[in-house]
Amino acid sequence: MGLISKFKDGLSRGSTILQGAFDRLAGRKKISEDALLDLEEALFACDFGPTTTEEILDEIQNVYKQKEAVNEDDAISVARSVLVRALRGSEGKLEASASSKPTVICLVGVNGSGKTTTCAKLGHLLQSDGYNLIMGACDTFRAAATEQLKAWSSRLRLDLITGHHGSDAAAVAFDAHASAEAKNADFLLLDTAGRLHVKDHLMDELAKLKRVLQKRDEQCPHHSWLVVDGSTGTNGLSQARIFHEKFGLTGLVVTKLDGTSKGGALVSIYRELKLPVYFIGLGEKPEDLQPFSIDAYVQSLLPESVDQTT
Ligand code: GDP
Repeated sequence: MGLISKFKDGLSRGSTILQGAFDRLAGRKKISEDALLDLEEALFACDFGPTTTEEILDEIQNVYKQKEAVNEDDAISVARSVLVRALRGSEGKLEASASSKPTVICLVGVNGSGKTTTCAKLGHLLQSDGYNLIMGACDTFRAAATEQLKAWSSRLRLDLITGHHGSDAAAVAFDAHASAEAKNADFLLLDTAGRLHVKDHLMDELAKLKRVLQKRDEQCPHHSWLVVDGSTGTNGLSQARIFHEKFGLTGLVVTKLDGTSKGGALVSIYRELKLPVYFIGLGEKPEDLQPFSIDAYVQSLLPESVDQTT
């Protein structure tokens, strides 16, 4: 399945809602209040957030003021251009570091955001691209996280370094880095704990993990990505700010865009955090983690209508 098809599949709920609302604008000379309200509701339902929703509605109304008659595609293309503008600079492109090996990626975020699943899916994706990698189960607090990662690693045949329940997360990171170096791995993926993000303890643990890694290679971690659950809307953003302040984030992975968020949350999350989105989660299967592409995202949520009524 190509990238666009995967995006379309994952984002189909959101695109169906939007399509219905845009259909009601079709072929009208004047935009009706009802149609506009429907569209506003649809944009909210898809979690685009107030700023983007307002921009789309304002710009569509401007087009109606300027044109004799507006068809559905005019309105869709206005919405698309608002999204493309809002997402400018959001595409993260993962490359292996040219100056040190392995390239270390730390996945941080609150419990349930999808870190462990993302770690396994990312391992699968990189392995399918021909890279060697090792995963480190640094969420030693939640026993289930290590078990979950073990199950994924045996299913997907990925190398994994684990520690005992309750052991020092930084020690696991250290061992995993040593092992990755010994095996000449291209990437080291570290899953971390997500509990009590507001408590200093977790942030201290993450800071220690970083310090310990930097003893082995001062460029570590090359990437520190916040894994955000796209279906919790903007609720996760205050947590994100704390992670950013204390840990120094370099990018985002937005998960569960296939779920109740209906896809639009990515726009509000990016607008708020302005960190590049490297990958998005579009489901629970190993192949459901996809590199983020603005074009594929916008085309999937807002495809051109087949039926053009002018
Ligand atoms: P963690 O606590 O941050 O490590 O979160 P987990 O990786 O354990 O994920 C929490 C739940 O979210 C699990 O049931 C995952 O299967 C699910 N999940 C993770 N990513 C996605 C996604 O992209 N789409 C959907 N639908 N579910 C996801």
